[in-house]
Amino acid sequence: MGDSLKERVALVTGAVGGIGRAIAVHLAQEGAALGLHYLVEPDEVAKAFLTEFTQQGFRAKLYKADVSKFEDATQLVERVIKDFGRIDILVNNAGITMDRTLKNMTPDQWEKVIAVDLSSVFYCSKAVIGQMLERGYGRIIGISSVVGQKGNIGQTNYAAAKAAIIGFTKALALETAKKGITVNAVAPGFVKTAMTGQIPKEILDKIVETIPVGRMAEPGEVARAVLFLADEKSSYITGQVVNVNGGLYM
Ligand code: NAD
Repeated sequence: MGDSLKERVALVTGAVGGIGRAIAVHLAQEGAALGLHYLVEPDEVAKAFLTEFTQQGFRAKLYKADVSKFEDATQLVERVIKDFGRIDILVNNAGITMDRTLKNMTPDQWEKVIAVDLSSVFYCSKAVIGQMLERGYGRIIGISSVVGQKGNIGQTNYAAAKAAIIGFTKALALETAKKGITVNAVAPGFVKTAMTGQIPKEILDKIVETIPVGRMAEPGEVARAVLFLADEKSSYITGQVVNVNGGLYM
């Protein structure tokens, strides 16, 4: 617990999912006020998380929106700014997988993953950037993936979206480098969440055998990297990808 983010307002997309929750808790423990965004979880699950969160003394509000749609993402950002006055830290964490080999992948499965995992990053970043530029301060952090760096069978859609987040990060970092805004990405390896829970155990066991550290990551291990990049003092780190992958890709 600290107060390094005491004056800061953060919006985390997908904040009721596995990694999102850990990111929200890490930022709140440093004093940030949190916009907790969700979509797919039942409302009761999201509300229970908010209750658990605020009972620890953290400042937070819950927002439901489909960030794969431009209007919804823009409205989400507007609502958070209305409630908290501004957004200093945006964590583009919402994401899905729809795994199929290319031969079997439908255009819908391609488009859906690109919309949720990639277009949402453009929509939310675009919606916050104006006020960050005006105030001369901002931290934008995207959650990429090791799959965007080294590929993975059955994930052409997901790998394309996650690799594109890295290009987006570097381009926006250049555009905003002189304006007090840093733009970075965190690329996790395989993390214990509902997303990897969809992978059959025998395949997961085989994946774990290839991880040098010999195990999957805990969500908090990814959140630590996000917190580091979100810090005001990380102002000289921009356009970077921080790999949290147990040595799976170097
Ligand atoms: P998760 O399924 O637990 O959480 C994903 C979140 O995204 C959920 O909270 C969900 O509400 C939200 N979401 C899904 N569709 C949405 C939409 N259309 N609009 C708004 N929100 C939507 O998964 P997770 O493992 O916590 O994943 C978080 C991020 O980390 C994702 O971007 C994922 O690609 C990335 N990632 C995960 C792993 C892993 O091994 N779990 C590895 C690398 C990267």
